[in-house]
Amino acid sequence: MNIFHVSSEVFPYSKTGGLADMTAALAKAQAVAGHEVTLVTPLYRGIRDQFEGIKPSDTQLSFPLGQAKKTATVWTHNPAENLTILFLDQPELFDRENVYGEDDDAERFIFFSKAATRLAKRADIIHAHDWQSALTMPLLSLGQAQIGTVFTIHNAAYQGRFGRDKFELTGLPDSFFNWQQLEFYDDINLLKGGVVFADLATTVSPRYAEELLTPEYGCGLEGVFQAKGSALTGVLNGVDYSEWNTNNNPHLVAPFSADAPEGKAANKTALQSELGLDEQPGLPLLGNISRFAEQKGIDILLDALEQQLAGGVAFQYTGLGSGDARLEQAMSDLAKRHPGRIAIRVGYDTALAHRIEAGCDFFVMPSRFEPCGLNQLYSLRYGAIPIVRETGGLKDSIIDLSQGDDTATGIKFEQPNSDALGQALGQAFKLYSDPSRLAKVRDNGMRADFSWFRTTTEYDRLYNTIRQ
Ligand code: ADP
Repeated sequence: MNIFHVSSEVFPYSKTGGLADMTAALAKAQAVAGHEVTLVTPLYRGIRDQFEGIKPSDTQLSFPLGQAKKTATVWTHNPAENLTILFLDQPELFDRENVYGEDDDAERFIFFSKAATRLAKRADIIHAHDWQSALTMPLLSLGQAQIGTVFTIHNAAYQGRFGRDKFELTGLPDSFFNWQQLEFYDDINLLKGGVVFADLATTVSPRYAEELLTPEYGCGLEGVFQAKGSALTGVLNGVDYSEWNTNNNPHLVAPFSADAPEGKAANKTALQSELGLDEQPGLPLLGNISRFAEQKGIDILLDALEQQLAGGVAFQYTGLGSGDARLEQAMSDLAKRHPGRIAIRVGYDTALAHRIEAGCDFFVMPSRFEPCGLNQLYSLRYGAIPIVRETGGLKDSIIDLSQGDDTATGIKFEQPNSDALGQALGQAFKLYSDPSRLAKVRDNGMRADFSWFRTTTEYDRLYNTIRQ
C-alpha cells in the first residue's frame, strides 16, 4: 500500500509531545511491514543543520493563501527502506523558534495542509494527524475520490479554532462553513473539519474513542464524534522499542531487562546522584515527565506529594517538565523546601527522560484525561511501575494490582483528586516494602509487549475497509 502521513511533528526532527513519537514509529513500522510510506512535515528551524541526509528536491509549490500567493520547496530524507520524509520548506512560516504558539498558527498550518494535499497525489491512503493537518480531509473531498482518508485525533482538547475571517485562507467553497462541517459557534474549527470529512476517524486508544462521545471528554465536539458512528475507532499506540530500550541505550549507566533486572539499581543511584537526591537505595523513588498542563493533573500530584511529606512518609520524587508557569514555580518551591527528597527539572530533556524512567521505582500519571499516553508504556519497559488515573489509554494499557500479582503491571485510581492519588501512593509504598511482590509486578510490566506490530496490523485492517 502507498501510505501518505501528514504530521506537524515527527521524531527525531521535531517534537513537543506524543504526536511526534507516534507518527515516527507508525511510519517506520509500516515501512518495515512492506508498505511504501511517505510522511510530510514542516521544515522547522535547525532541522537541516542537524540531519545531514536531508536533500533538496525539484518539487516546488505555489498557491494562494487568502489574498497572498505563497511558494514552498520540498526537501527529502530517506531514513529507512520504503520510508521517505518530505520537509516543506517555507521559511517565512516555519523558520521559527517555536513549533506552535505563534500569532499566525492559522496561516502556518492551513498552508501546511494545503501543501500536503498537493503532495499526496499517488497515495492509496492519506492519514492526517491532529488539527494542524486536519484541513487535508475537506480539501481532499473536493477531488481525488480514489484516495482513502484517515484522520487521527491525538488530543481533542486542541482543535485549531480560529476566527471566521481565517476561513478564506482555506480556499474551500463558502458552503463548507456551516455547523455540520467546519463552523463551530461562528469560528472555523479545523479538527471538526478533519473528523467530518475523513472516511475514517481514529483516536489513540479504544477507551478514549468511547470517552470522546461524552460531554466530559468531547470538548464540545461530542456530537460530531457521535455522528461518526462506527467510523470512529480507537487503536492503542505502540512503542518504538529500538528507541525506548534498556539494553543498549547511550543515556543509561547500566543495561538491564526483564531477564537481567539487576542493572536497574545502578541507574537509580546514578539518577539520585545526578539530581542531588539523597543516595538512599532503600527509599521508593517516584517520577513524572510531562507537559505542565491542566490535562496532566500536575496540581493533583503537587497536593498529593505535599500530603505524603506532611504525613512523614519516606520517599523521593523527581519531576521533569515545563508549561504552566505557576506549576513550574510551585514544583520548584516544593523541591527547595525538601532538598534531597524532591528534585525538579524545568525544561525539555530527552536524555534525562530516559534516565528518569530507568532510575525510578514508580512513574505517576494523574491525568484528567489521556488519549493514549506514552510514558506509562515506556515506564513498563523501564521497570518504573506506573501509578495512573483510570482514563483513556492509561486505562487500556495498565493492569491494576487488584487483578492479582500474577498479571498486575501497575496501580490505577479513579477520581482525579489528591486523596485518590494518595491512596494509590499508599498502595505503591506497601508494594515497595515487599521485595518479592515488587519484583513480580515489575517483571510483569517489563515483559508486557506494546510493540508496533499489533498497531500496524490494526491500521492495515482499517485502511483496507476504506480502500477504493
Ligand atoms: P502528550 O503528547 O500529551 O504530551 P504523551 O505521554 O503521549 O503526552 O507523550 C509525551 C512525550 O513527550 C513522551 O515521549 C515524553 O517522554 C515526552 N516529554 C514530555 N515532556 C518532556 C520533557 N520535559 N522532557 C523530555 N521529554 C518530554
